Amino acid sequence: MVDSFGTIKQMKEYADKYNVPIITDEGIEYIKDYIEKNAVRKILEIGTAIGYSAIMMALCDSDIEVTTIERDEKRYLEAIKNVKKLNLERRINLIYNDAFQVNLTDKYDLIFIDAAKAQNTKFFEKFAANLSDKGVIITDNLSFHGLVAKSDDEIESRNLRALVRKIRDYIAFLQNNKDYETEFLDIGDGIAVSRKKSSE
Ligand code: SAH
Ligand code: MG
Repeated sequence: MVDSFGTIKQMKEYADKYNVPIITDEGIEYIKDYIEKNAVRKILEIGTAIGYSAIMMALCDSDIEVTTIERDEKRYLEAIKNVKKLNLERRINLIYNDAFQVNLTDKYDLIFIDAAKAQNTKFFEKFAANLSDKGVIITDNLSFHGLVAKSDDEIESRNLRALVRKIRDYIAFLQNNKDYETEFLDIGDGIAVSRKKSSE
């Protein structure tokens, strides 16, 4: 028997100890619920970290396949360990690379963007071609620990201000997108759910 409960608990403890920014409980609950209600089968994730969200998504149903991309070697190796512990190697395809170097031809019912926050627009533009017609692109951390709602002078560091501006630019990009309709949800650290507008 695979002790998924124990392994998930250990992953959360590892994330806490080494400051790996895994998705909030509320955020992953929303995504799991979406997967179940919409019978999602194929998932693409940008930003694996240690495999926590990929594993949680894969565990929703035994038919689900997840492809997930990570550029950090240490995290990728940790993700491999976690996926093996849960015997999910056949359903979780871990790619060790910069997502901008990865070219995929398959279509996915759900694309989860959860990597470098300053690159969200570029990830969206690159991977939108891999979205199935009724699929959605979900982006995490749009409130970025509440910083996106703050004014610039409330944010101490220059780098952080630049990052927050990029997230605001991404929100504007989604709001003004002619081809996609986006719902912004105040769940977890802020989640956007973008769907293709129907063409007629
Ligand atoms: N989805 C994970 C958390 C991901 S944290 C979870 O909720 O469990 C974001 C990860 O994205 C980091 O590990 C970082 O190394 C990775 N990342 C950032 N930019 C990337 C890129 N261009 N290509 C691949 N991975 C990237
Ligand atoms: Mg996240």
